[in-house]
Amino acid sequence: MTKHFAKEIWFYTGSQDLYGPETLEQVAAQSQAVAALLDGSATVPAKIVWKPVLKDSASIRRAMLEANSADHVLGVITWMHTFSPAKMWITGLDLLRKPLLHLHTQAGQRLPWDTIDMDFMNLNQAAHGDREYAYIASRLGVRRTTVAGHASNPAVQQRVGTWVRAAAGYDATHGMTLVRFGDNMRNVAVTEGDKTEAELKFGVSVNTWGVNELVAAVREVADDDVTALVAEYEERYDVVPELRRGGDRHDALRYAAAQEIAMEKFLVERGATAFTTNFEDLGELRQLPGLAVQRLMEKGYGFGAEGDWKTAILVRAFKAMGAGLPGGASLMEDYTYDLTPGSELILGAHMLEVCPSLTAGRPRVEIHPLGIGGKEDPVRMVHTADPKQGALVVSLADMRDRFRLTANVVDVVPPSAPLPKLPVACAVWQPRPSFEVSAECWLTAGGAHHTAMTTALSLEVIEAFAELSDVELLVIDENTTKRGFRDQVRWNAAYQRLASGLPGA
Ligand code: MN
Repeated sequence: MTKHFAKEIWFYTGSQDLYGPETLEQVAAQSQAVAALLDGSATVPAKIVWKPVLKDSASIRRAMLEANSADHVLGVITWMHTFSPAKMWITGLDLLRKPLLHLHTQAGQRLPWDTIDMDFMNLNQAAHGDREYAYIASRLGVRRTTVAGHASNPAVQQRVGTWVRAAAGYDATHGMTLVRFGDNMRNVAVTEGDKTEAELKFGVSVNTWGVNELVAAVREVADDDVTALVAEYEERYDVVPELRRGGDRHDALRYAAAQEIAMEKFLVERGATAFTTNFEDLGELRQLPGLAVQRLMEKGYGFGAEGDWKTAILVRAFKAMGAGLPGGASLMEDYTYDLTPGSELILGAHMLEVCPSLTAGRPRVEIHPLGIGGKEDPVRMVHTADPKQGALVVSLADMRDRFRLTANVVDVVPPSAPLPKLPVACAVWQPRPSFEVSAECWLTAGGAHHTAMTTALSLEVIEAFAELSDVELLVIDENTTKRGFRDQVRWNAAYQRLASGLPGA
């Protein structure tokens, strides 16, 4: 089975010594079979590793500490095959810091009505064993995802897979290093935020490097490396003749290639997986990095423009969670509208930086003037996002006392007509449930104008990621009403204030 994540999930089974060795051997064998069912599922994208049955509080505590400290573990699944008195789980659950899924299942799918006896009843106790466990988890306020059903059920496997992807997003952010080349765009509000709180909440270290360090790195790039990368561009993309070897603006393409090489080396040397730039703070860089940023996003880096480190976190998390799925993730910006009544559309784009993972088509590489920044014309990829029902745009805003994710389910559609004069990559979408409800709710929530767009992930993955990260999520989808949304914003505000002051909420 193809596993898209190199890291694994540990499967812990709960029981107790009361049952004697014969029963416990059956518990071990049957829980191995359950773990194998999940591991063998195409919709579960990480290896599920069974661990020996846990029967007392000392071993549970040890198991949770081991999961915490194992860098190759994304999260933990727990299942109480038999009755595992839950006071034994208090210390362990209190110590666990990895994503937790409570699987509520049992070994057999069908109850053997004609042969069931007390031996069977003694062995198959998850129906009440899991309730005892969940009681203590709820009492302790342990954040977890609960999935109920037989492990062979495709819907159960799908839900476990959704949680695994969210856990991979949690893993990608916790320990992430984010490089800001320069500060935020001057006077912009929504791209600001509490970087210190972000390190606690998301585990992301957000720091700034003077753009001169990048300027120096670009200067140091070897000519041969540039030549090799330019050849790759000409092979993979439709490079316009003026930028190709022998073209009169080829030097601009070579400079863009040097930017890509320098930026990637800079990020690799610092172990960084996300970054920002700012067109107001380019120092002696000759162009605003456009092609270089698009290429690095295509390789899996998170990116935010104008110093927007929060969107860069989301883009990186989305890329990590979408491993192996068709579609992609990119920085996006609600740019301009078609307000034809009844068929309103949003045209999303940015100055340059939209990731080509949004299309299976072949991008063009072009050069055009940029109205702002006062630099040389930047090279960029030009493409249009492929149609996709149920894509998502998600913003992350700092609401002073908390971070807020706002998500809109949207349908990416082909542009209504060709866009021959638009010299940047773009996406065109219809927001759900309608332009009016989507836009009014988004504005009510104070969602940002920068978003991370994903055409690979389901809303369920985003919801699970928000839950794991303990961050507010407001969803605008086909079920949203303006009245209900406004109420939710208010109720959330009360809940968030209470929850931040009440341990275990
Ligand atoms: Mn912008």
